[in-house]
Amino acid sequence: MKTIRNFIAGEFVSSGATFEKRSPVNNEVISTVAEASREDVDKAVASARTALRGSWAKIPLADRSELLYAVANEMTRRFDDFVEAETADTGMPASVARHAFVPRGAANFKIFADMVKNVPTETYEMATPDGKGALNYSVRRPVGVVGVICPWNAPLLLMTWKVAPALACGNTVVVKPSEESPQSAALLGEVMNTVGIPKGVYNVVNGFGPGSAGEFVTTHPGVNAITFTGETRTGAEISKAAAVGARPVSLEMGGKNAGIIFADCDFDAAIEGTLRSSFVNTGQVCLGTERLYVERPLFERFVSALKAGAENMKIGAPFDASVAMGPMISHEQRNKVLSYYKKAVEAGATVVTGGGVPTVSPELASGAWVQPTIWTGLPENASILREEIFGPCCHITPFDTEEEVLALANDTTYGLSATLWTSNLSRAHRMAGALEAGIIWVNSWFLRDLRTAFGGMKQSGIGREGGVHSLEFYTELKNICIKL
Ligand code: NAD
Repeated sequence: MKTIRNFIAGEFVSSGATFEKRSPVNNEVISTVAEASREDVDKAVASARTALRGSWAKIPLADRSELLYAVANEMTRRFDDFVEAETADTGMPASVARHAFVPRGAANFKIFADMVKNVPTETYEMATPDGKGALNYSVRRPVGVVGVICPWNAPLLLMTWKVAPALACGNTVVVKPSEESPQSAALLGEVMNTVGIPKGVYNVVNGFGPGSAGEFVTTHPGVNAITFTGETRTGAEISKAAAVGARPVSLEMGGKNAGIIFADCDFDAAIEGTLRSSFVNTGQVCLGTERLYVERPLFERFVSALKAGAENMKIGAPFDASVAMGPMISHEQRNKVLSYYKKAVEAGATVVTGGGVPTVSPELASGAWVQPTIWTGLPENASILREEIFGPCCHITPFDTEEEVLALANDTTYGLSATLWTSNLSRAHRMAGALEAGIIWVNSWFLRDLRTAFGGMKQSGIGREGGVHSLEFYTELKNICIKL
């Protein structure tokens, strides 16, 4: 069993209160985690402030960038430790951590270290009545101490997606990992110390949301900006906290994303892509497709191939290489998902496959397992089609025309991503332009160039992060006007 401490001013510390983190695989306690008090958060913010004005500010941009490369390289050196941390906390298959989430965590540091070295600033020469003119130029400055509030579904990837640009832009951070996934953030503290990131640049406080570390960070007057990934409801609360002191907030929130499959698609690619978009990470992916729309001539064939694919996925523990799907993060999350499985039946859904709890080996019996589930036959106003379930499930609806499916796909309060499968290029452009979502994939899913804008429309988010777009949030742009 591990002990996870807070990481404040370069030291691992704990101040008394603790909570237990249980394994999603067998429900055993795997770590005791120090719960940060308000005083701990005060200390973390104070240490971040000191580093912001002192040690971190003194490091020239090129050296800062080198240090972030060193973080990425050290993460790569400790690759197996990160894989173990991610799989232990979340139960995700080690193959998913190995091939996607851990490498991306390290890549986040490299991409933003490069990006900040290559950002031009703008200059405008202007005419003045005396004929001598004036010169405007802009500079970017760090926004300050950034509060980073993270979810549990891809702990390292989603945290570094915020910490890396924040540090690259010269800010310091106080990170609040999810109470369900504290290990990777602590491990990153060790990495920071190993490569010589100054004390106080990266701080971690553990705990929960309301009345705990999450609230203490987001309401702290010493936190200059807040970046959040998590549920839309939580984002709304954090927005209120950020409004006090008029602090900038970046919100990456929930989704109810559509996958649209036209009859002219590459069938095998659409099935393979949809199996991933609906079921990878046990459906706990904000970009996942819980609503599928399939053109009628393809409907029956698609439903039966997706069913076969779902039933073929081996469910089990992370380090079994043949396992495609792990458990849900917790029993609480499993109960939420199972309550939707029940609601689907009550609403009259046809259960194509799944709908319950799988049979697992006796040593895994206490884990948070659910079956991958496919439904058809529900009306568009059913809660299954309107609310984010965040589990390994999808509903499939047939459609007849492009106009019809566009209206169905856009009829949601969310707007994070949408995925199109078609070989008709004109239609792909037409649909992609008209879909109300921040991220559109055509004939792929989760294909990410880290320089591109990432974020959602409607209730899926406020702001965009990624590449130069992160600059807008993590820096203050200042115009300087000189009369010549
Ligand atoms: P959550 O909102 O329950 O928790 C996220 C974080 O907020 C946790 O660290 C939690 O402790 C903290 N928190 C909760 N209440 C708080 C409060 N009042 N004040 C301050 N902090 C508070 O989300 P989750 O269950 O951890 O994650 C799943 C959700 O995240 C899903 O809705 C998913 O769609 C979303 N998500 C979105 C993206 C994206 O990029 N848009 C990516 C991944 C996950």
